[in-house]
Amino acid sequence: MSLISFISEFPDEQSCKNKFKEYRNQAGVVCAKCNGTQHYWKSDKEQYECKKCKTRTTLKSGTVLHKSKLPYRY
Ligand SMILES: [Zn+2]
Repeated sequence: MSLISFISEFPDEQSCKNKFKEYRNQAGVVCAKCNGTQHYWKSDKEQYECKKCKTRTTLKSGTVLHKSKLPYRY
């Protein structure tokens, strides 16, 4: 999927976020601490939590958006 079609397909922050999470789930979330791939999704904090060591992984970490304050659409 190109960036252009990505943006036009998900015009608002929320739908974009949902898609982003879907993408993260597909790509797989890997714990930075123990390399575990099993995570709980904390919908209240919008973070993953490692099932093994409880390390939190944000939706943005490990992606180009990591540590950025830019909106997901960017
Ligand atoms: Zn872990």
